[in-house]
Amino acid sequence: MNQRKRVLALAIGFALMGTGGAAIAHVTSSSTLCSQGKTHQWVPSGKGWGVQACRKPQATSALASSAAVPTGNGINYNGGPVMLGTKDVYFIWYGNWSGNTASTILTNLAQNLGGSPYFNINTTYTDGSGNPIQNAIAYSGSTTDNYSFGTQLSDANVASVVSNAISSGALPNDPNGVYFVMTSPDVNETSGFCTQYCGWHNNTTVGSSNIKYAFVGDPATQCASSCEPQQNQTTSPNQNPGADAMASIFSHELEEATTDPDGNAWYDSQGMENADKCAWHFGASAGNTYTTADGATANMNLGGRDYLIQQNWVNAAGGYCALSLSSSAPPPSGGGYGGYGGYGGYGGYGG
Ligand SMILES: [Zn+2]
Repeated sequence: MNQRKRVLALAIGFALMGTGGAAIAHVTSSSTLCSQGKTHQWVPSGKGWGVQACRKPQATSALASSAAVPTGNGINYNGGPVMLGTKDVYFIWYGNWSGNTASTILTNLAQNLGGSPYFNINTTYTDGSGNPIQNAIAYSGSTTDNYSFGTQLSDANVASVVSNAISSGALPNDPNGVYFVMTSPDVNETSGFCTQYCGWHNNTTVGSSNIKYAFVGDPATQCASSCEPQQNQTTSPNQNPGADAMASIFSHELEEATTDPDGNAWYDSQGMENADKCAWHFGASAGNTYTTADGATANMNLGGRDYLIQQNWVNAAGGYCALSLSSSAPPPSGGGYGGYGGYGGYGGYGG
């Protein structure tokens, strides 16, 4: 078993069992009593595992029973907002990216992900009234940050990088935006980059706006074995294994920010969000991967470039991981996908 699988299995164990020591470190209030009317529930941490929090139990059951909201697909609506319309993507290139092709590779992805069969999977998710999320992304700009907090970033530092980019006017204050802090290979995120996660998403308030943002680190020199797909650690679709890994991590965080921007909309009973349920599954067993000219593994071409992007959870037909949802046909219904209902193959394969 390769190292990447081992590290992933660790993270997955935390998520499924909720008993891992490292995961507990993030549960700041698990030992406290909930106030009256609330119970401990698994909710998303935004980092790929669930944490316990006090929430009103009726919020889940009452809203999930609304006829307008999809149910029975292994992921549940919890009452919070989703990003229905066009998602505006902003990049903040933190650190030293000179001579690195990452911005070319990832900007092309951000420009072509919207409208794709892949991102169309997110249209199976709705708000509380049953309005579906739209398959629309607008790459809306970028800025740079020259190590304003050095090479060791805390979670709070990442939030400050975003708020400072907005407050300085480098990027607009956009409540329909998702701001990605992309850190260069020499930068560490000290709450667990490489050991507990490869990226995460969250939300904060800047001015009077609810700002959605994410951290995506370049694992090239720090943790290829834990944050790059095992197939592409030597040769990758765009000849940049770190950036090609970031392509999948970016996609993961964007689809979670879309369906669960504030951590209170779509997640499962373990606090896993849509992309968490399919992390590191690339569709190889379904024959969805192919070999690029330079010998790397990819599973989709967007804007003329090949990428290896993880599957996402389809919120229909009982729920399953997939790489695409046809935009010309409604999602399958009935029992045809019943075999995926018990999907539990985490850690069983790496591709
Ligand atoms: Zn996630």
